[in-house]
Amino acid sequence: MSGRSTRLIHHPYQPPESFAAPQPGIYKASTIYFQTAQALRASDWKDKTGYTYGLHGTPTTFLLEERLSELEGGVQCLLVPSGLSAIATVNQALLKSGDEVLIPDNCYGPSKALAQGELQNWGITHHIYNPMDPADLERRIGPKTRLVWLEAAGSVTMEFPNLLELVRLCKQTGVTCALDNTWGAGLAFEPFALEPDLAVDITTHALTKYPSGGGDVLMGSISTQDPALHLKLKLSHMRLGLGVGGNDVEAILRSLPTIELRYRAQDQAARALAKWCQNRSEVLQVLHPALPGSPGHEHWRVVCGRKDLAAGLFSVVLSSSFSQDQVDAFCNSLKLFKMGYSWGGPVSLVVPYQLQTMREVWPQHLQRGHVLRFSTGFENVQDLQADLDQAFNLAFR
Ligand SMILES: *Cc1c(COP(=O)(O)O)cnc(C)c1O
Repeated sequence: MSGRSTRLIHHPYQPPESFAAPQPGIYKASTIYFQTAQALRASDWKDKTGYTYGLHGTPTTFLLEERLSELEGGVQCLLVPSGLSAIATVNQALLKSGDEVLIPDNCYGPSKALAQGELQNWGITHHIYNPMDPADLERRIGPKTRLVWLEAAGSVTMEFPNLLELVRLCKQTGVTCALDNTWGAGLAFEPFALEPDLAVDITTHALTKYPSGGGDVLMGSISTQDPALHLKLKLSHMRLGLGVGGNDVEAILRSLPTIELRYRAQDQAARALAKWCQNRSEVLQVLHPALPGSPGHEHWRVVCGRKDLAAGLFSVVLSSSFSQDQVDAFCNSLKLFKMGYSWGGPVSLVVPYQLQTMREVWPQHLQRGHVLRFSTGFENVQDLQADLDQAFNLAFR
């Protein structure tokens, strides 16, 4: 080989094997080499026995999938570019024209938008059910229902549903149920072992939140226990061309060992602040499923009570006698709490919501007012409380 560029590309040096360190080596590839033409023809991308193309897996993505299976209590796992794309992939894999999907009213908002947009355009109908009323779900499950989405606790309003009853209804009617497990993160409860004989069929997880922990990566996962269901999802995943980058996977692999410590720390901070908010005259209602009196607290106790864990999130309903300007002034006055979407990262966040635009009906268990959602980062809790205090005093004098 006379050309320098050829020698550079086909360099013979190989580092010695048996390198071992706390973090795994990171592999990045679109192209993956085959040793022989026969090996290329014989290769199969459907399992983890080998490699075919970067889109179908590298040692790095296989590693994260296996570790996430451990976290979720599933058996198989697929990685997708975002939490929302995990939801979309499940819908695309399991639904076809003429089918119907049921979605809880307090689901992650864009999941509804997807149902009203693409799913509707493809002839897939959806109905919204009241997650706090299992009888409502029971009424709505019909002959065309192919998929029921579950979320515990619900987005923004944090009510914990009677998850066991909802899953039981799906099992009794033979409808596949998928849980958006981002809130529980595989830590607060075990969706694949709710009871000895009770499990959801699929979990999706926005790895963007706790598994990343940095507020700097977007990724999602889809976990299952049934090989046939996994294969169905994997076929769609392949045909849709969904893949994730090695650098992003590395970021999640690096954060994953500390997920439980971070989850517990943010849980404690959120509960302390939520309890403090209960004593503020400006606050009509504090929404946090682990607090007695919060909507769905008794269901949280059944499912999460043993571990006594909750995500570091809570919402408050502020009196509707306050103007939107005052509520905005409160948000704008916060210094440590930044305003922005997502959670699970190092920085505490607040989001003001217009709940009336997000729900079919104003939930019965909720006071009418302005809804703010807080998520706790890793700042000192006293500092966060002082930040809330100064903003309350400034905006609602
Ligand atoms: C954030 C979130 C998602 C979406 O995750 P992205 O990675 O931001 O697309 C889905 N479901 C829940 C419950 C979430 O909180």
